[in-house]
Amino acid sequence: MIELKYLDVHKCPYCECNELVGEYIETSGVNGGKIRQHINGKRWETRKFSCGYTVQFVPNFNDTTEIHHCKNSNDEQQIQEQVNILKSEVETFATNLGLHHSTIQHMINCIDRKDAISHINQSY
Ligand SMILES: [Zn+2]
Repeated sequence: MIELKYLDVHKCPYCECNELVGEYIETSGVNGGKIRQHINGKRWETRKFSCGYTVQFVPNFNDTTEIHHCKNSNDEQQIQEQVNILKSEVETFATNLGLHHSTIQHMINCIDRKDAISHINQSY
């Protein structure tokens, strides 16, 4: 079991979820997978909750930062509503162009970030 020393966030600030799905301490492949340590002796620690909220302790700033949003937060729900409108309009537009169903589905998957091409682009 990993023991996080510096990250003291134990629940999502948006929905108060406290169900953990992962805890990580950053390692470096350069040092053969050893735990990376900042010059101040602290390390990068990450905690992910089942609602998607993910928070990381960043030793450079001696502070925590949100790296993934809670799917229950108002901001994330508003984004999802806008994405649903976008998908509907893309589907209608592509259908009116006469595109094949598989092409339209691919476009929808890219919007949903389910297709490989979308994931590749997302990492840059
Ligand atoms: Zn949450």
